Order: sequence, then C-alpha cells, then structure tokens
Amino acid sequence: MNNNPVVCYIGLGSNLDHPIEQLKQAINELSALENSLLFVQSSFYQSAPMGPQDQPDFINAVAGLKTSLSANDLLLQLQGIEQQHGRVREQYWGPRTLDLDLLLYGEQVINTDNLQVPHPGIPERGFVLYPLYEIAPDLEIPTGKSGRESLKELVAKCADKTTKILNDDKVS
Ligand code: AMP
Repeated sequence: MNNNPVVCYIGLGSNLDHPIEQLKQAINELSALENSLLFVQSSFYQSAPMGPQDQPDFINAVAGLKTSLSANDLLLQLQGIEQQHGRVREQYWGPRTLDLDLLLYGEQVINTDNLQVPHPGIPERGFVLYPLYEIAPDLEIPTGKSGRESLKELVAKCADKTTKILNDDKVS
C-alpha cells in the first residue's frame, strides 16, 4: 500500500443462503484485497427488505477499508466478490446473496455512469446509517460543492425503525 491510502466505507447486505455466513466470508475477502487494509467492521444488523416484502429480512454491516486502489478499481473488486458469492440479479430490489456498496471514498464526490459516491442511498437507509454511525460517529458526508452533512444528524432524522442490531449469540 502506498503512503496515502484513502479511507473508504463499504456497505454489506445479504438475505439469501445463510446471510450471516455470506457477510463473514465477504469481510474475510475484503480483508484480503490487494493494496488495502480492513481497519474496522460494524456489528451485524437485521433489516426489513426495501421494495418487495415477500423475501427474507436482510443482514447488514459496514466495513472500513484503507486502500490505495482507485475508486473504480475498488468497485471492480467489490463486484468480483459479489460474483464469487454467486450473486444473480433477477429482480430490482429482490433477494440477493451479497450486495456490496461503496458508500464513501475519502472525501470524494464521484458521479459517473457506473459509480456514485457518496452512495445516494446513505441518507435514508437505516441499515447503512446505524452501522456506519457505530464505527465512525464523527463522520461528515460530503454533499458536493464543499458541503457536508453530519452522520449524527442523518441518524437522528432517520425514519427507519426496522433495522436492529444483532446480539453476538445470533452472529457466532
Ligand atoms: P446494486 O448492486 O443493485 O446496488 O447496483 C449495482 C450497480 O450500481 C452497478 O452497476 C454499479 O456500477 C452501480 N453503482 C453506482 N454507484 C455505486 C456505488 N457507490 N457502489 C456500488 N455500486 C454502485
């Protein structure tokens, strides 16, 4: 890793095929990524699905990575890990074995065809906000034009009451 790694946060979610195991495995895979160091991970959370409700609850977590990969290369690596988990995307907002989202890439605001950072779902998704707040309570989310939004305020405003932290006995 070079001397100037970027601090990023990655959202993980699964609701198929032993979701807790999917997330544990994905965290191992993130910790093995080239030119990167996994430095923190949240607890696991359980959340109701967005969109179609006739699917299992999700298990979610957020991991912090220091990386020298570019944002695009990191996205490619995340998509590679999703593929290894046999992810098939059949239905928008449908069930999935593993979903990895690049939530934040340092202070950068990126808006390209294949990558939007900060991830646009952050402000209203409790299953992102709560685990992120657990591991980085002082975080400020860049909003472009040098603006910032405090994570603490986003958590306070969040209307999602379905996301619950999982006790250790359910995770181990
Ligand atoms: P999904 O896996 O359904 O969340 O969406 C994957 C698609 O979202 C891919 O085509 C990505 O190129 C695109 N995408 C845009 N921004 C992001 C991001 N911040 N993290 C992950 N995927 C992203």
